[in-house]
Formats: sequence, C-alpha cells, structure tokens
Amino acid sequence: MKHSGYHSRFGGAFIPEILQTTFDELEIAYLTAKDDPTFWAEYMHLMGTYSCRPTPITFAENLTNHFGGAQIYIKREDLNHTGAHKANNVMGQGLLTKRMGKTRVIAETGAGQHGVATATMAAKFGFDCTIYMGAVDVERQRPNVFWMEQLGATVVPVTDGSGTLKDAINEAFRDWVTNMDNTHYALGTACGPYPFPDMVTWFQSVIGTEAREQIQTYAGRLPSRAYACVGGGSNAMGLFSGFMDDKEVELVGVEAGGRGPGMGEHAARLAYDDASVGVAQGYKTYFLQDKDGQMQETHSISAGLDYVGVSPILAHLHETKRVRFEAAEDKDVVAAMSLTIKKEGLIPALETSHAFAQAFKEAPEMDKDEVILINQSGRADKDIFTVADALKDPKWEEFIIAKAKEYSNA
Ligand SMILES: *Cc1c(COP(=O)(O)O)cnc(C)c1O
Repeated sequence: MKHSGYHSRFGGAFIPEILQTTFDELEIAYLTAKDDPTFWAEYMHLMGTYSCRPTPITFAENLTNHFGGAQIYIKREDLNHTGAHKANNVMGQGLLTKRMGKTRVIAETGAGQHGVATATMAAKFGFDCTIYMGAVDVERQRPNVFWMEQLGATVVPVTDGSGTLKDAINEAFRDWVTNMDNTHYALGTACGPYPFPDMVTWFQSVIGTEAREQIQTYAGRLPSRAYACVGGGSNAMGLFSGFMDDKEVELVGVEAGGRGPGMGEHAARLAYDDASVGVAQGYKTYFLQDKDGQMQETHSISAGLDYVGVSPILAHLHETKRVRFEAAEDKDVVAAMSLTIKKEGLIPALETSHAFAQAFKEAPEMDKDEVILINQSGRADKDIFTVADALKDPKWEEFIIAKAKEYSNA
C-alpha cells in the first residue's frame, strides 16, 4: 500500500530518522484525505468561498491578433487570494494540519510569496506560524516580510550559507525535528521528500482539472500546447496534470534563463545541461551543483524561479519527454510582461511572464485554428520594485528618493 515516493529514479524521502514517524503520519493523512471525497468537497468549498475558485480562463484576443497565429487563452490563477496559485497548496495543507490535530505551521520562503500565503492560511485557521527566510531575502523583500508580520507570523532570518531559500529550507527542517508533535511543515512547492511533491501536485491539480473543462467549453477543443513557468514546479504540475493523458497536448515548462547560458547566470535545471542528478534537501532530482555536490549560485529576475532543484516529477517527465523544457531570458520576460499589460490589461508576475515569453515565441508560427493555454500563475503587484527598476521608470525613482528623504528628515 505504501507509495515508494519515486517517479522512475527521481524523488524518494531522504530524511533524518527522527522525522520518520512524522512523515509516516503525514503520508497517512494525505492518502486518507485523497481517498475521502468529503475532504476534497471541504477543500473546494474553502477555495470557492475564501479564494476565487473556479478561476476563469480568459481569451487574449488582442495578443492573438497581434501575433497572428495560435489563439491564446490564459488560466487566471492570479485571481486567487494572495495573488497566486500558492493559495491552492497552503489551504489544502491547512485542512490537513487541522485533521492531524496540529496547532502550529512553519514554512520556508524565498521571495516571500509562500510565506505570505502560509501566514494567511495560519491566520484563517488560527495556527501559530513561523516563517524561515534567508537573511538576504529578508533584506530584499521587505514588503512581504511586512505583510507576514501583520498577519501574525514570526519571520526568522536565516544567516547560514548564502542566506537564501535553500538555507531557509534547512532551517525549517531543523525546527520540525524539535517541534514535530504540534507542528506541520507546509512546504511550498512540488519538491522535497515524499509525500510533498505528490501532495502539493494533488492540491494544485485543481488548476488543470478546471482548465481542461473550461477550454473545451470556451475554445471548443483542447490546446495544442500548454505553458507554465517552473520554479519548484507546483503551478506547472497543477496545470499539466489536467492534460497528462491527452497525448495531443504538448506540455511546455519554462524555466528562468536569466542572463543567458553559463552556470551561475540562470536557474534552468532541465532546459540547459548545467544541472546533474543528486540527492539534497531530502530528495533526488536535477540540481545546479558542481561535481562535488556543492550547490551553485543561480540568477533570475524573478525570485520565485530562482531555486537550485526542481520537482522530481518534472525531472521524470523531462526524461520520458512528456514535458518539453525551455528557458526564457530576463530581457524577453520583461518585454513579454510589458506587452501583456498593454495589450490585455493583465499584469502577470515576473515568474509567470516566463511562460508568456516562450508562448509568444511560438504562437506566431502556429496555425490560426490552433489553441494554446498559458497558466497565469500570479499577478505582479509584488514585483513593482523589480519591474520599475528593470523598466528604469524615472517617476518611480523620484518617488523612492522622495520617500527616503521623508524618512531621513523624520
Ligand atoms: C512561487 C511562484 C512561482 C514558482 O513556483 P512553482 O512551484 O514553480 O509554481 C511561479 N509563479 C508565481 C506567481 C509564484 O508566486
């Protein structure tokens, strides 16, 4: 009965022995919930009343005309509460936490989006909440830290290593080892030791299930290609699971191409050849590491795609060629974002804009009667500092300088 937690040679659960009972408990809670239709009904009720499910799909008519090729449809995960697909995962794990009788949640966060989503969930369920965040990220992402604290969470800056996401993950596991009796670790993406990749995919599969039905109703057919950006891989797995058995739908995962090819310049684990298979952070997948297994620096304009590992399920789907992987570079991502804002009045997150950039490259070459579907994983309000910098907006700069003056005079 026990799932091995492997997807061909990827995945597994490489955990300290002391956490074994906690992982067994989580696996049982997850599998029991999966077999229990009342759990999914409760989940859908929560998402329909607290977030915005079902999220619609939008026909991007102006972009379609602009490119003159395939018809472009967009799945609107940006309409979720807290502005991204992350709500699907945290709310599901919140319900499981309640079922397991636990009263405290912890999480890692990089850009802060998963931290804000988890702190929101904790406020809603009445859980204590601690968020681990690299000290460097705490400095870079003040607005998200501000909101986490307003939501009642304790944000712990992690100074180990490079003070970024992977160090925050290690610290969250350390907390879990000492507090496992009352604490659930709400991991943020389809990575980590089993059952997380499978469980997070299950919660996110709501995206693909809805999208498959909606596109048939709305466009009258299945898409030829479905695009999603890939950080850890949860929004991609969510969308792709809806079309996995439709062999005629090509699935395209888009990673961060950053400043271009070359180790350290990007965060593309599957689209480029710089990553290799290894075991780290409790699971086996492709990591951007050197030959001694030292994790390498990554770069992306979008904090949410800037991670050294990738979902073991996507690593498997890469090897079996069910999913095609591409990388979009920073400059093309910003251009795709600007175009989408101007043409459609939609504001895709920088992460999301990677999927748009790749789709925009391919759409013009496709037939007018073909349909493509892009997952808009989130919205970009959170990215205003980065985007205004990238677009070198002079009025924004004036505003920041004036604000700084205001504070220094106070
Ligand atoms: C966090 C985030 C991502 C990356 O995470 P995945 O697990 O790969 O989906 C993508 N888009 C947005 C908007 C995010 O907030």
